[in-house]
Amino acid sequence: MRIAATSMAMLQQACSVPLARATSARSLALAAAASSSAPSGALPLTARDPRVLLGMSEQQLQQLAVDMGQQNYRGKQLHQLIYKRKVREVEDFSYLPLAFRNELQEAGWRVGRSPIYRTVTAADGTIKLLIKLEDNRLIETVGIPMEDEKGSVRLTACVSSQVGCPLKCSFCATGKGGFSRNLQAHEIVEQVLAIEETFKHRVKNVVFMGMGEPMLNLKSVLEAHRCLNKDVQVGQRMITISTVGVPNTIKKLASHKIQSTLAVSLHAPNQKLRESIVPSAKSYPLYALMKDCQDYFQETSRRVSFEYALLAGVNDAEDHAKELAELLHEWGRGNHVNLIPFNPIDGSDYRRPSKKAVSAFASVLESRKIAVSVRQTRGLDASAACGQLRNKFQKSPLVAKTDDMQSQPEIAMVC
Ligand code: SF4
Repeated sequence: MRIAATSMAMLQQACSVPLARATSARSLALAAAASSSAPSGALPLTARDPRVLLGMSEQQLQQLAVDMGQQNYRGKQLHQLIYKRKVREVEDFSYLPLAFRNELQEAGWRVGRSPIYRTVTAADGTIKLLIKLEDNRLIETVGIPMEDEKGSVRLTACVSSQVGCPLKCSFCATGKGGFSRNLQAHEIVEQVLAIEETFKHRVKNVVFMGMGEPMLNLKSVLEAHRCLNKDVQVGQRMITISTVGVPNTIKKLASHKIQSTLAVSLHAPNQKLRESIVPSAKSYPLYALMKDCQDYFQETSRRVSFEYALLAGVNDAEDHAKELAELLHEWGRGNHVNLIPFNPIDGSDYRRPSKKAVSAFASVLESRKIAVSVRQTRGLDASAACGQLRNKFQKSPLVAKTDDMQSQPEIAMVC
């Protein structure tokens, strides 16, 4: 395994999506509300496939076994086969009785794993996978190996939460491919299992920084979070959920009291500049976003981490750094900023800032007592920016599925 040096949000710097539609405050708020708080019985944005084993808890698997006339412990065996042994097909559950396997298959149960369509390895050991979903859509997931001070390898999985993304951050490659649908929880979990299989190593950290805006698919993201923590055994504190900001969702996330990191992609120290980089910010004023971050800390005692993609000549001046420090001090203490020097993508006018500019920006923040880290670009030669690899292999623009559109009427209306 090759050694690498930093985390993944780097790859996220590239999440950009031209939603073939304008996105208003109302549509974002309603979409978020629909995805995170659909009452039971209401149609969720992407209905969970009821016969998929992946994503089910040990208790649910035990109940399933009992319901099918088996002993309780068969459920535990199912759990081991799915999450520890990572068996992909029910027919390969070799230490279950043949009759039980047949019964599961006849009842339509399947594991819910998808094939890996392409694997691209970068010189620094980063591996990007393209996973082909049941409806032939491709999603990206990235594994990043890093060596800690003791020489042990720590593996980070950067996972996607949507097929494409309906937001259109101006620097992001994902958006160039459009938006199709939300991922189901098991389609998020399987990305982590695929990374573990590929590296033959346990995943230590999971970051929701791949394709898509997690807060627009909060229900599935929270289901996947539960499964990753309880079933795949990734520590809650080792999971980061990233967002550019969707109205009304940070509060909802806080109410679940998960002990994971919230990473907010700021990319600008003021509203005007932010709107030009993150168009969806028009619906979420900076002060409202910062207030929600402050409340999130008060509610969860977990500090928010801020991501800042440095774009040469756009937001990387020392004055921007001073303004950013003022903004962060105004809304809290002890904030942490991750600076992400832009990773060039096809079809973008943005340029990567010079090392000097990055270092000057970081120094201004440090001198104002803001903790800073600079993300090292990973896997440049592996189409590392989020969405780039998918765009290479799935040329046709994504269009939202009809049933997803029916369940997101407010989005459909404004687009
Ligand atoms: S929210 Fe993320 S995936 Fe979506 S366009 Fe913005 S940067 Fe890209």
